[in-house]
Amino acid sequence: MRYDWIIIGGGAAGSFAAANLTERGQSVLILEKGNKLMAKVKVSGGGRCNVTHQVKTTSELIPAYPRGGKALHNLFKAFGPKEMEAWLKERGVDTHAEGDGRMFPETNDSQTIIHCFERSMQGTRVMLSAEVVAVTKNDDHFSVATRQSIYEGKKLLIAAGGFLKGALRESVLGLGHHIEEEVPSLFTFNLPNHPIVELTGLVAEHATASIPGTSLKSEGPLLITHWGLSGPCILKLSSLAARYIAEHQNQFKVKIQWINDLSENEFRTWFQQHRQVHGKRKVYSHCPFELPTRLWQFLLYEAKIAEHLNWGDLNKEGLAKMIQALYHSEISVDGKTTFKEEFVTCGGIQLGEIQLKNMESKLVPGLHFAGEVVDVDAITGGYNFQFAWSSAIAAIQ
Ligand SMILES: Cc1cc2nc3c(=O)[nH]c(=O)nc-3n(C[C@H](O)[C@H](O)[C@H](O)COP(=O)(O)OP(=O)(O)OC[C@H]3O[C@@H](n4cnc5c(N)ncnc54)[C@H](O)[C@@H]3O)c2cc1C
Repeated sequence: MRYDWIIIGGGAAGSFAAANLTERGQSVLILEKGNKLMAKVKVSGGGRCNVTHQVKTTSELIPAYPRGGKALHNLFKAFGPKEMEAWLKERGVDTHAEGDGRMFPETNDSQTIIHCFERSMQGTRVMLSAEVVAVTKNDDHFSVATRQSIYEGKKLLIAAGGFLKGALRESVLGLGHHIEEEVPSLFTFNLPNHPIVELTGLVAEHATASIPGTSLKSEGPLLITHWGLSGPCILKLSSLAARYIAEHQNQFKVKIQWINDLSENEFRTWFQQHRQVHGKRKVYSHCPFELPTRLWQFLLYEAKIAEHLNWGDLNKEGLAKMIQALYHSEISVDGKTTFKEEFVTCGGIQLGEIQLKNMESKLVPGLHFAGEVVDVDAITGGYNFQFAWSSAIAAIQ
């Protein structure tokens, strides 16, 4: 039998493509190496599946993709978060957005998404424990080999996820494609032996983290954990700086600005006024900013500001120390820890070799790609799945 489509990988992108193709009456074979479909969808978003991200305009999505960026605009315009929301709704799945824009199924259960896709996939032939080991392009069809059999398809969609491995990787390279070196993205920073880890659980709500000597910078809540730094601010920086961090073997410095209520200059003026009004108050006793008191005290201690001092005792040197502590805290990072809620691959099939409007290979007609296998990845928030959905839809047009 020659299938209309063979799909390699029954993850998010492959299953979504199969669901749509099957609804359109096409014959589809999914070859999946694992023993179930959509394994990552199941565990995604802490079991709730952060299925996409609510936006008003397509352009808002672009900054979330350090790899991909503007090139993805038309893909998202054709099928973006609104279209995904509508797609699910038409099939009986309601979604809701949280305050930060992340969207989940109304049930807050990833199984709802899996069941929905599976209903649309009735008629898709699924082969599990079927690792693809070779792909060959013939005149008008593809031959795809697992260890057990060889299958034929008129068109081929590779949706095998990040870090293409083994024989499939060799086959893709053999077809002439190039792979942008893969490195991990979305991880937290390890600070072994740093005293700050004693403050585990504390959050600086409005922190800015950056990598000195680069323009890599992110803002947001920063969480101190028992191994180092985490939270949206750090995860976003890990994504923006994924390649830099890999090149530096996960040994680098991160600069933290702990508050963003005032700019550094505004802080100087504020400091003089505060000293005058609260001159007799102890500096350690009360944090005038949105920072946990224990973190405030830790930063003062690190800046070598004596515990007995009142605001009125602080001179120019005290001001300089405080600015250093609040705005230019530099910490050495030694290693990373995978963020258990979501981690993705930076790198993959080079975008220059793919026509993004239909995710078709520019080198091999009839060969399409979708999802993390290509050199696109995003920060957390439902954006990685959105690319899986958008690229799958584009690929099967
Ligand atoms: C724990 C976790 C939680 C996440 N949560 C979220 C979230 O809430 N929101 C979000 O947007 N993103 C989330 N992500 C990221 C998201 O899961 C991925 O970006 C997305 O799954 C990519 O889809 P994909 O189809 O490209 O790859 P995958 O879903 O990884 O699927 C690829 C499939 O290909 C199969 N495969 C690989 N090689 C072969 C082969 N040779 N032969 C046959 N099959 C093969 C694999 O077994 C796999 O099933 C999360 C990731 C993780 C790890």
